[in-house]
Order: sequence, then structure tokens, then C-alpha cells
Amino acid sequence: MFDALSGKLTGVFDKLRQRGALSEADVTEAMREVRLAMLDADVALPVVKDFTTKVRERAIGREVMDSISPGQAVAKIVNDVLIEALGGAGAVPLNLAAAAPVAILMVGLQGSGKTTTSGKIALRLHTRERRRVLLASLDTQRPAAQLQLQQLAEKARVSSLPIVPGQTPVQIARRAMETGRREGFDVVILDTAGRLSIDEALMAEVREIRAETNPAETLLVVDAMTGQDAVNTAKAFNDAVGVTGIVMTRMDGDARGGAALSMRQITGAPIKLTGSGEKLEALEDFHPERVAGRILGLGDLAGLVEKASETLDQEETEKLALKMMRGKFDLDDYASQIKQIAKMGSIGGILDMLPGMGKLKDQLGNKEIDTSILTRHGAIISSMTKAERRTPDIIKASRKKRIAAGSGSTVQEVNRLLKQFDDMSTMMKRISKLGVKGLMRQGMS
Ligand code: GDP
Repeated sequence: MFDALSGKLTGVFDKLRQRGALSEADVTEAMREVRLAMLDADVALPVVKDFTTKVRERAIGREVMDSISPGQAVAKIVNDVLIEALGGAGAVPLNLAAAAPVAILMVGLQGSGKTTTSGKIALRLHTRERRRVLLASLDTQRPAAQLQLQQLAEKARVSSLPIVPGQTPVQIARRAMETGRREGFDVVILDTAGRLSIDEALMAEVREIRAETNPAETLLVVDAMTGQDAVNTAKAFNDAVGVTGIVMTRMDGDARGGAALSMRQITGAPIKLTGSGEKLEALEDFHPERVAGRILGLGDLAGLVEKASETLDQEETEKLALKMMRGKFDLDDYASQIKQIAKMGSIGGILDMLPGMGKLKDQLGNKEIDTSILTRHGAIISSMTKAERRTPDIIKASRKKRIAAGSGSTVQEVNRLLKQFDDMSTMMKRISKLGVKGLMRQGMS
């Protein structure tokens, strides 16, 4: 997701940064490239127009043009406007403040991932917030759907409403809420039937169920892979029944990202959650500032810390992250960082969160990343002297030969590692200038 867009935008801003001074024409040219990149990524036209206009307006002022590094200043503006387009700072949490049992109504087209997402939300509320969750399938169109949800409930270790054949969706919804009240559930998740396309019957059914259950959340599930269609679907649903939030699934696929970027502005509804895989654990909050960071190749350190803290020693990870943020980052830190990454498993997704790692990913052929490269980098670093690890600049030709021989690698590999480290340090510096420190704190609290 976002790979192509991110690559192009990073290219535009690298060019801007290389210029000392910026003219209005430079900004105009850059915005033209940004517009093309966004359209290519399937971002809706009004969103693209609005975006480039805002950036231009803010960039063409004395303050930016006369600043010490105008390219950097424009990149910061783009970052800010991107965050705004994605819905503003901070994730929008699920609203579960109503009196128990709180109903969450899941709506969406068939195949969007609605049932899976119901299971994911149930698991999250059950494990993270210790809520008592009841899952109920109102899908009477496909008998298998009710069984599917029952199985998901078992996996998530939450309860599911017993299946009673012959009931209408509204009757099931009523029974679910009664059961919720009677048996003391905190949350009742109602998974409605989907259709292959939007039709009035579907909307009428959703409205009826909503009137019956008065849900605190009506969550629309859309598939990121469907691009602009996802946005059109969301708009239609929101106009017809009103949704309180959007869950975008298949963020793990190679969708171009336009849907995520257009959603807020076109529909007015916030993306609250995203799905990034088939497993029940693959559910994330949608943090506009982190997504912007990924799109602009700045990585998603806060997301990384969060992911890491689920797998790794919390203290160790925070120490490392803080060092990264302060720009005090040497090869020893790099070595310990890659060791941690190797522990976390799935490398592709993690590389996306690391600043400056996009290039490494390209070198490795994108998909075929395994942990062996990291292990090799670890071996190379351990063949360096302490001084070399502290001050990599002193590593010239003869030292490179010695290090390569000592670690059973080649000078080329040593070069590649140093380049990688260099890219990462540069990115770190850029990030600390952009002031992502606040973000970090947020991510670790
Ligand atoms: P529903 O018809 O809307 O209820 O869709 P399902 O929940 O049955 O999901 C359809 C398919 O999409 C299933 O094979 C799911 O495992 C898969 N799926 C759901 N969410 C995601 C996601 O975030 N990423 C990926 N890769 N697959 C997903």
C-alpha cells in the first residue's frame, strides 16, 4: 500500500530539498508532479485539487521562500496538509460510552471483510479492554455466514448469539440486544448481511435494524483494494443510513492508497480502523499522522514501537526508539535494532515503518525479504572495531576489506550496509526536524 505514491512523492521532495532557494515556479512544478502522483494512486480528483491548492497557498509565502531550507519547509507543509486530508491528528477511537450493552452495527458490501472485522473488533475489545462481547450475525441471506461468525467468536473466545433458523434480521437483532441485557454483556456486535452492490433493500434493512438497536457505532467496512469504488460505496452508505466510522480492510494488499486518502473528504466520515490481514489480530487504529509519515517515506516509528512492544522487551525498544529520535544513532544501535526486527518476524511490514528503508526494500526485490539480510548485517557490524561502530565515517577502503574478510562477506556488502545506515541516519535527522517527537511520546504512552 502507498508504495508507488510514496516513491514518487519522496522523489519530488528530494529534488526540492537539493535546491538552495525556491521560486514560485519550482513550487508550481513540484505541485504538478504531486498532482500526477496522487491521481496515479487513485486519489479522488477534488481531493487532489484541494490538496495541491492548500499546499501552494501555504508554500508561496515569504516565510517559506525565505527560510533557510525552503525545500524542507515545503515538505513540512505537505506533511501537515496530508495529515489534515487523512482526518487530522490522532486516531478517532470507537465510541463505546453508551449504557451497556453498547451496540456496534457492522455494515458493508458482501466480501468487504465485514464478518472478519466483527471478529477482530470482538477480540480486541475482549483482550485489550476486557469487555464482555456478544457477536450476532444478522445475515439470513447466506446461512453459512452465521456459522462463520460463530467460528470466529470461538477463535476470539467471545460469545455468539445462538442461531435460531427462520428469524428475520430485525428479530435476530432484537434477540441479540435482549440477550445482551439479560446476560450482562458490555458490547453487542451486530454483523448485517451484505449485498454485491448497493440497493435500496439493503439500506432499508440497515435503517430498520438501527432503529431497533440504537447502536453507538455504525461501522462501514470497505475494501481498500476496490480503490475509488470504496469511496463511492462509503458515500452511498453514509448518505443513505449515516455511518459513524469506516473500517478499511486489505491495507496489506497492494492497493494504491487513493481510497484511504480520499475517504474523509468525500464522505465526511472518519476511518477509525484498518485491517491488514486475515488473522483476527490484524486490526489497527488509523493514525493520520502515522499514515502521512509512511506516505512521505518518513516511516512510522510510533507504529513500530507499538508493534514492537507487543513482541519485545518494552524497555529495550523504547531506549532504542528514543536514541533514534534524538538522531544519536550509531552502528551499534543499528545492530541492536536489526536484531530486534529479526525477532519481530514479518519484515516487509516492518520495513515500511522504518524511515529510509524503502530503498533497501527495493534492493531486495520488495516481496522476497527475509531475516537473513539482517543477520548478515549483524555479522558485518560485529567485525568492526568499537571506534568504527561509533564513527562509521572512518571506515575507508582498507578497513572495509578487513571487515568483509572478518565477517565472511564482501566489500560490496559492507558498502551497502554503510549506505543503508547513512540513509537511515539522514531520515532520522529529517524526522526530528519535523517534530515527530510528540508522536513518539503518544505512541509509547
Ligand atoms: P464479508 O462478506 O464482508 O463478511 O467478508 P468476510 O469477512 O467473509 O471476508 C472476505 C475475505 O476477505 C475472507 O477471506 C477474509 O479472510 C478476507 N479479509 C478480511 N479482511 C481482510 C484484510 O484486512 N486483509 C486481507 N488480506 N484479507 C482480509
